[in-house]
Amino acid sequence: MNTVRTRFAPSPTGYLHVGGAWTAFFNWLFARHHGGRFILRIEDTDRSRSTEEMVEAILEDFRWLGITWDEGPDVGGPYGPYRQTERMAIYQEYARKLLERGHAYYCYCTPEELEAERHKAQAEHRPYRYSGRCRSLSSKEVARFEAEGRRPTIRLRVRDYGETIVVHDLIRGEVVFSPEHLDDYIIVRSDGTPLYNFANVIDDHTMAITHVIRAEEHLSNTPKQLLIYRAFDWTPPQVAHLPMLLGPDRSKLSKRHGATAVRQYREEGFLPEAILNYLALLGWYPEEDREIYSLEELIARFHLEDVGKSPSVFDYQKLVWMNGVYMRKLMHEDRAKVLALVEETLKREGLLPEAVDPATREYIARVVEVLGDRIKVGRDVLRYGDFFFTEPTYDPEAVRTYLCGEEIPGYLSRLEEEFTRCQEFDRATVEQIVRSLAAELQVSSRVLIHPLRVALTGKTIGPGLFELMELLGRHRVLQRLQRTREMLKGGLTASTGSSPCS
Ligand code: GLU
Repeated sequence: MNTVRTRFAPSPTGYLHVGGAWTAFFNWLFARHHGGRFILRIEDTDRSRSTEEMVEAILEDFRWLGITWDEGPDVGGPYGPYRQTERMAIYQEYARKLLERGHAYYCYCTPEELEAERHKAQAEHRPYRYSGRCRSLSSKEVARFEAEGRRPTIRLRVRDYGETIVVHDLIRGEVVFSPEHLDDYIIVRSDGTPLYNFANVIDDHTMAITHVIRAEEHLSNTPKQLLIYRAFDWTPPQVAHLPMLLGPDRSKLSKRHGATAVRQYREEGFLPEAILNYLALLGWYPEEDREIYSLEELIARFHLEDVGKSPSVFDYQKLVWMNGVYMRKLMHEDRAKVLALVEETLKREGLLPEAVDPATREYIARVVEVLGDRIKVGRDVLRYGDFFFTEPTYDPEAVRTYLCGEEIPGYLSRLEEEFTRCQEFDRATVEQIVRSLAAELQVSSRVLIHPLRVALTGKTIGPGLFELMELLGRHRVLQRLQRTREMLKGGLTASTGSSPCS
């Protein structure tokens, strides 16, 4: 059998979507499993929407994910170029061949004429199909159109308008397309640029692609593409259309469901290994009952036959969970990597300078230690521990619940006194102080612990209070207690100018 060759063919009109990464990853897994090659091709013929910046961004996101390509725009390869805009002469040559063989023809219909046809079909309640009126123009008619300055498109000549096309899909089995799906469709625009269905086929064939694995939304293009293969007498590649990707509410995955760009995940501090592991389990059902797989294991086990047909739900929370599993493992095996990830997150938020000194690095390591398993993704360091790096942002609800009691300023001031006076400021000492004061006041320790936490961190969630106090250090603890008392006394918050307790 020929070497397996798969490809991913993004249009650089936006950042790499998780759905795209998923499709690319399955192509990659399939190629690696069979010892084949994975090709990256840039489909940039829609020049108004494609940008160079997005080409770069997509390549960068793939590199970050660890999805490597054997041939592509940057590394080249024997079937290049790998960008459609650099392949225009190839499309022209193949369009000419189709014209010569009578499988394609020039169409001089104007947009207005086509619109009129479409309207008529609508009025008669039948699906629109191009009438084929330019199929056999006389040379006189052609001369007249040319004289009028019309510039023709090129249409594929569909042999028989009554034809049913059967697609043999490796995931879906036989999919039957009834005749109304086909008409003499345009393969080259009047400006000479090829359309997706045409360029895609020419590329897949000339790049010797053996398996086309792509999104379900392209299934309806497949019968049209098969007609081009037939016109050239080429053997089409095998095709597989992945199931649809849904959000947790079972509607098509979109921005509404949260992050959809791989880049966003990167910025939130996800680990590429965890993302790939999670993507592998979307729609693919390995026989074993387990969820964590190394890349090598995925490559060894991946079979297209195990991919299901029904839609797959992309569950952000599950991905966070899986990232947490990888993060814990990394904490033990390669702590420096976790620290680097956290450092990057803090820098992106402007909470660290570009050059981090050794003392700060040490401090970050201690923060990470204190936050422990709470860090499932890099950004969790902010969610649970931003106050280690900046003044707390006070959650108004937490303030109202825990700081607005009449007795609170008194308690805080007593704590301040004790914290000023004590010799050491370590977790055991501060705990001792809090518990003794509670006993003296005849209240439960919680009555002091909750307000103290909100005063120091701005929130109700986070790491152990005494640990975080030791790490913040006496100076910052006293400063924040004092500031909180002033805020409560003044009854005004700097940010809103209104009373935090009303
Ligand atoms: N450029 C197309 C897309 O981004 C490729 C589809 C295909 O794989 O054939 O959807």
